[in-house]
Amino acid sequence: MPRQDACRGRFAPSPTGPLHPGSLLAALGSWLFARRGGGEWWLRIEDVDRIREMPGAAQDQLDTLAAFGFVHDGPLVRQSDRDALYAAVLDRLLADGHAFECHCSRSVIEAQGGIHRACIPGLRRPDPAIRLRVPDDCLVEFDDFIHGHQSQRVDRDVGDFVLRRADGCWAYQLAVVVDDADQGMTEVVRGADLLDSTPRQILLQRLLGLPTPGYAHLPLLVDPHGNKLSKSTSAHPVDRNNPLPALHETWLQLGQASFVATRFAASPQATPQEWLHDAIARFDPARIPRHHMELS
Ligand code: GLU
Repeated sequence: MPRQDACRGRFAPSPTGPLHPGSLLAALGSWLFARRGGGEWWLRIEDVDRIREMPGAAQDQLDTLAAFGFVHDGPLVRQSDRDALYAAVLDRLLADGHAFECHCSRSVIEAQGGIHRACIPGLRRPDPAIRLRVPDDCLVEFDDFIHGHQSQRVDRDVGDFVLRRADGCWAYQLAVVVDDADQGMTEVVRGADLLDSTPRQILLQRLLGLPTPGYAHLPLLVDPHGNKLSKSTSAHPVDRNNPLPALHETWLQLGQASFVATRFAASPQATPQEWLHDAIARFDPARIPRHHMELS
């Protein structure tokens, strides 16, 4: 991802629970990428999935980010406020023949290996999903800043993917593409669990005539069994009353060289903002590891 003056990045947590060390890594990583070039860092609450949302989690996440010294640019956007925008884009995809109503049940799709390529004729359900019609031989390639060249045959590896779910919720893939373009994101820095979603998002961008941002997928934090730490499972939340040790730990997980914030040298009272300020000039994205990191 070239360093550019007009760069704009974002952190986009789903409010499924308090921020854990994996979310802090995505927050700090995206913040450093944006700020290293003097760019903007925006915040978006990805609350389209009403079933997985935990009441109060969004505010809790915002309070934690503030305690860690993160100050965002731009308006704070909540996906739950943006139905009209997603609906307009979906209508366009339907009108252009790129999307279709799908009446197939979960069990029908599972019987086809979980990959949808054609609807079973004659099926009707009251709550059809809307899927993207993925063209045959749909090879999508891109260069990830951390993981290098990536390619995926979206038709074969993913199939026709969901844009609006049977329960009426917007799918992440649609909402994220609409929002990243609408908010003018030039770079998307997030966890490596989303690396294989990126070709779907690039395909949607192309069908909608939208620009493709630069991508960097940060190492995932895993538990000793190799499972991703997830906000909704047992991962311990980060301690918002003691942000500096967690910031430093996250910095090391990003492969960065240890440093002492300037203010620390004079007094032990450095604030998270001062630590973050000092971190910008020391950030070297080339040091970020590709492999998963086990949480100690
Ligand atoms: N909302 C997603 C999450 O919390 C991140 C999506 C993205 O950064 O594109 O894992």
